[in-house]
Order: sequence, then C-alpha cells, then structure tokens
Amino acid sequence: MTKSTIHAPAQPDEAAAGAILTIDLSAIRENYRRLKARLDGVACAGVVKADGYGLGAVEVAKALRKEDCDTFFVAHLWEGIVLRAGLGSEPTIFVLHGLLPGSEEEALDAALIPVINSSGQLAAWRKLAQRKGLTLLAAVQVDSGMSRLGMAPVEVEALAADPSRFDGIDVRLVMSHLACADEPERDANEAERLEFERLRKMLPPAPVSFANSSGIFLGKPYHHDLARPGAALYGINPTPGHKNPMLPVVTLEAKVIQTRQIDAGTGVGYGHTFHATGPLAMATIALGYADGWHRRTSAAAFFDGVELPFIGRVSMDSIILDISALPDGRLKEGDLVELIGPSHPLDTVADVAGTIGYEVLTSLGHRFHRRYIGG
Ligand SMILES: *Cc1c(COP(=O)(O)O)cnc(C)c1O
Repeated sequence: MTKSTIHAPAQPDEAAAGAILTIDLSAIRENYRRLKARLDGVACAGVVKADGYGLGAVEVAKALRKEDCDTFFVAHLWEGIVLRAGLGSEPTIFVLHGLLPGSEEEALDAALIPVINSSGQLAAWRKLAQRKGLTLLAAVQVDSGMSRLGMAPVEVEALAADPSRFDGIDVRLVMSHLACADEPERDANEAERLEFERLRKMLPPAPVSFANSSGIFLGKPYHHDLARPGAALYGINPTPGHKNPMLPVVTLEAKVIQTRQIDAGTGVGYGHTFHATGPLAMATIALGYADGWHRRTSAAAFFDGVELPFIGRVSMDSIILDISALPDGRLKEGDLVELIGPSHPLDTVADVAGTIGYEVLTSLGHRFHRRYIGG
C-alpha cells in the first residue's frame, strides 16, 4: 500500500453525496426584488440568521449584495463574525440577540451593531464606549407586544426620563417585531403597531424597523424605514392561506441506494410498522432523520412527478419508498428522487410534517452536496 494523505472536502461531491440540495440564488434575488417592489422605496435588509435559514448565510448575503442590499441581520454574535469575514467591512450587520455579558469587545472588533434589548446591555455598551473613547453604534429593540425580546415599556419610559444613558451611543435603528404578522386579520397587529409608535417616540430619533416578511404584506403603515424579511427571500409563503407570491428557492433530491421486490406479508423497516399487502416494488433512498427529515413525518418522494409514498419508519440515514406506481425497472440505483421541489413545494412539506417552512429549512443537515445555481 502506498502512503497517501486523504483530504476530506468541505462537502461531498455530487457522485459521493447521498442527497443534493440545490439553492437558486437568482430566485433569492428575484424574491428580494419582489419585496422591494411592495415596499415602494422603503429600504430592505436581508435576515440571514441560522446560516441563512440553513441555506448558507454568506452565499445568500453575497447574492443580495448584487441587488444592492447593504444591511443584514443575524441572531448570534458568532453568526455576525462569520458574516463579516465573508462580506468584508462595507455592509451593516445587526445582531438580534444583542450583547451577552463579556461579548462587547468581540462585537466591536467585528464592527457588528448589537440590537440592545435591555437597559443592562445599554449600560455595558456605554461603558465600552467610554473606555474606548468612542461613539458606538447600536439598534434598540422595544417589546411592542410579543413578549419575547426587547425593552419592556416600563424600561423604555425609564430611559426616556434619563437621556444621558445614551451618552456615547449612536442609535442607528429603533425596532420591534410582530407576533402575528402572518395572520393579517388578528387585532394584535394594529395594537402592536400603535404601541410601537408610542414607544419609539420616547427613544432618540433614528430610522425605524418593524416588518418581517409577512409584515411587509400588512401594508404601508407597517413599512417604516427598513423592512427585515427572512422567510420570503427563501421562498417560504409570507401569506399563508393565499397563493405564494415568492419564487421557490430550494430543491432537495435524494439518491436511490437500492431497489428490490418484496413479497406479500413482508415487514418493512424498524419495528415492522408496515407490511406489504401484496408483492411490492420498493426503493431505499440515502436520506433520513439525520438529514433533517423528521422521523415522525411520513410523506412521499416524487420521481417524474409520480408520488412514491414512504413505507415503514424513517431511519437515521435512509427512507424506504413504495415505487409500485412506476413501471418495472424505471427507477435505478443512483437516480434522484425529489423530496422538496416543483412536485412537493416546501410549504406542503412543512404542512405534512405539522410544522412551518422555517423549521424544515433550518433542520436541513450537513451531508448534502450543496449546489448553488444562478449566482
Ligand atoms: C427572524 C426575524 C425576522 C425575519 O422574519 P421572517 O418571518 O423570516 O421574515 C425579522 N426580525 C426579527 C426580530 C427576527 O427574529
């Protein structure tokens, strides 16, 4: 045997991969343009937290840069550091989770703008500003009714009474987040909007941001100065119950690793939860719950538009399909079946799994060959 060093690539190549995730960057750009058109002149950021909803934050952000998007939101400080390294110094990057105690210097070093969610965070940022002799940029988030993150109304009122607490801080954005934006008929939306208007006026004057993807579709009063869509960019329907106004972005295909015939009465998969009622043609594909396809979710794959139902349980690395709807021999080892795509849209996949497109995308695993197209 010759000595050799094997270099493991960052991801499997197409031939070695069990599944292929295709991400259409031109569709992301078109979705951004569609949102911009609705916003009618209002600025639009890109939310790329959770690694760009599982699709690659740096790749997505670079595509959006080509549409002149210059503002991005991440959740974690570390996501901001990765994004800064990928994008360079120019774009504005806000960190939604704000400042964890002790992380202030790191945020400053990567030129990230923390979304200040409490008066404690404000004090820590101000202390750093004083120590460095600098004016530090910040966004301030108020809680206008979601009760998740942001300064409570009493905190905002206390700050308003003592403006010196903003000394050394340049407030670049005042923001809040809607709890029910995807349900336009809910009274909570208008109540939150009015509460946000009341609270933001107590804070230093700055551009204002309220709407996520669905918020954009609530209309002009929700647009303010900067919209913050994530989901809609990635093709998730921001108007549930109505036709999806966005283009699909993601296709997920898995490879057939074996096909065979089984006899009537044969048990299939862990626990034999399925038994063939007659002779059955089946295929096993190289994708399972370790790839983000939840075990509790029975569903189907598609080949040439033909539905191939899952049979038995979803395994860690594989799923078994009933392929009897296809002609004998039509599906072969190495063929790709569609899990998410034109025959099986993301929002349908999510519905069947009892969840939302957001969770399907952010659950996608790391063993796929990721193919970016339209870059
Ligand atoms: C995730 C998030 C967004 C983006 O929401 P989408 O529904 O994905 O458009 C905007 N703002 C905040 C504060 C968020 O947490």
